Amino acid sequence: MEPQVISLSSEYSVTTEQAGKLLKLQRGILEQVALGVDYREILDALCKVAEEMVSDSLASIMIYDETGSFLTVLAAPSIPAEAVGALNGLVPSENAGSCGTAVHSNEPQYVVDTRTDHRWCDLQTFVDSFAIGACWSCPIKLEEGRAVGSFALSSFEKRTPSAFYKQLLETSAHIVGIILKLQQEEQLLRNLARYDVLTGLANRTLFNNKLSQALKRAEPQHSQLAVLILGLDGFRDINDTQGHDLGDRVLKWVAEKVQSELAETDFFARLGGDEFVILIEYLDEPLVIERLIRKIHAVFKQKIEVANLEFSLSTSIGVSFFPEDGQSAQELLRNAGTALHEAKESGRNCARIYNEKLTDIVRHRVDLVADMRTALINGDFILHYQPQFCQKSNKLLATEVLVRWQHAEKGLIPPDDFIPLAEQSGLINDLGLWIFTTACQQCKDWWDSGMPEFSLAINLSVKQLDAENIQKFKDILLGMEFPVHNLEVEVTEGLIMRQESLQELKKLEDFGVRISMDDFGTGHSSLAQLKHLPISKLKIDRSFIKDLETNENDKVIVKTIIAMGHSLGLKIVAEGVETVEQQGYLVKQGCDLIQGYLLSRPVPPEQLEALLVQV
Ligand code: C2E
Ligand code: CA
Ligand code: CA
Repeated sequence: MEPQVISLSSEYSVTTEQAGKLLKLQRGILEQVALGVDYREILDALCKVAEEMVSDSLASIMIYDETGSFLTVLAAPSIPAEAVGALNGLVPSENAGSCGTAVHSNEPQYVVDTRTDHRWCDLQTFVDSFAIGACWSCPIKLEEGRAVGSFALSSFEKRTPSAFYKQLLETSAHIVGIILKLQQEEQLLRNLARYDVLTGLANRTLFNNKLSQALKRAEPQHSQLAVLILGLDGFRDINDTQGHDLGDRVLKWVAEKVQSELAETDFFARLGGDEFVILIEYLDEPLVIERLIRKIHAVFKQKIEVANLEFSLSTSIGVSFFPEDGQSAQELLRNAGTALHEAKESGRNCARIYNEKLTDIVRHRVDLVADMRTALINGDFILHYQPQFCQKSNKLLATEVLVRWQHAEKGLIPPDDFIPLAEQSGLINDLGLWIFTTACQQCKDWWDSGMPEFSLAINLSVKQLDAENIQKFKDILLGMEFPVHNLEVEVTEGLIMRQESLQELKKLEDFGVRISMDDFGTGHSSLAQLKHLPISKLKIDRSFIKDLETNENDKVIVKTIIAMGHSLGLKIVAEGVETVEQQGYLVKQGCDLIQGYLLSRPVPPEQLEALLVQV
């Protein structure tokens, strides 16, 4: 290799032997680059070689983070993790230690004593924690430009760098600069092969890769995924009449707008021309796709403003599902393409699913969601109340509110037939608010008119436990001056899995609302876990009560839940009590409250009034 490969600056007078050492170092490192060794390994190796050349020293390389606002450690093979952690996030300035200052000033900084040098005045805690005595740092530059990072050697003792050491630092920083530049170029090339230059989205090759990987994950987990191909309607006309330049800008607009409607986990790519594609993984409900399609169509309802011109554009969408519509990436893409073709044939601006059977299911569910929306506006939902009686006094102590849908043709629809769909479609938020307001207002009216008070139990779906809903609930309660101590919400075990739901639930509890654990025993939570939850009541699931007279197992379970629940200070409710025998057993075990057809079915408000008057 020619000695001039990397110019040694003539600023420092080093001996021929020292110059030889430096050239050997350069050659060794650049050979590794040429051999294609992973660049992080090379940087580690460079640090190690430098450390060998300066006794008792620690080398480190820091570079700017992606946003260019602070430095992070890129390589520091001999520095302990805690010290690396403390260095990460260093913001360059004129007294940000040797490295921060080197980057800030674009000049080497040779600090001989970190305790007295003003450049380290802000980092004295670091000095104390890690006993750093001296630190010499050189900026790393890409092609003579501004510093992008620093190469440093630190030691526990105070020391002044010799000319050779200064040369070593500058040479090392220079090599890192070359490696980073090469890496940038390689990345650029790789990107060119995998990304669409115009929109910055993944291209067909990368999409195929991603889809194949996703299929490998989906198969063993039996999860579903969907491929949506978007074909812009009439894009060719824009291209032909307005020119490619404008066409390109329209494509960019589409890429940006559609991307903003997608979740982070969705993968969006441009297949080429006017076709885009989306991959949705871990799909548990085809309705999600229906919602996404609606969102995408809404994007295209906006006028596209490009170069002071306005355009209208629509998109046709073809969808295929795994596993129904294909096992391989090619098959799924082909079938989504066929569906797209059908969508175009049937008048554009619409979506088609490859498998017609699924189309029907989705369509049926879409209709049902639309019906529910209308029902909410028309006031077709009604509330029934089911009392819970005290086992000892037989008094009505609480009532659970249960929603029903009074359908003009189908009659009274039970909640199990529409609550899950309301949850999946997001309608549960509006429906839940209506239930909450109506039930609270109803009870408040009763109590204001002198009826005896009781605890009102409202079912909340986990989907409703977010900051926005909780704030609305609080506002409703404050607005109607509802006696909060009379309110409890029933939630199921699913929420234990979600930290954020738990947080929201705690807010309700702090507000004075009691929390009741519904359907206990059907999920995965153990009694031990309950200790950490903000609950005051436990409802034993109906499935344990159903065969209580005959099933010895159930008897033991129920007995244990009651005993352990009591030991945690919880009130226990048994739901679904239908026979005197079941009631007898529960009473014997000390169950606090009984709810079930035996004592009362869920009843409309007028009938509950009658029950209240009897109390
Ligand atoms: P859940 O919260 O477990 O409600 C108790 C269910 O058991 C009610 O069914 C009730 O009618 C029924 N039940 C009560 N006693 C007996 C009995 O002795 N025997 C039998 N076989 N069943 C009894 P419903 O009203 O059909 O509600 C079903 C589910 O729908 C509820 O289960 C709850 O998960 C959900 N739900 C009902 N109303 C609401 C609501 O306002 N909001 C939400 N998020 N979910 C609701
Ligand atoms: Ca319930
Ligand atoms: Ca229940």
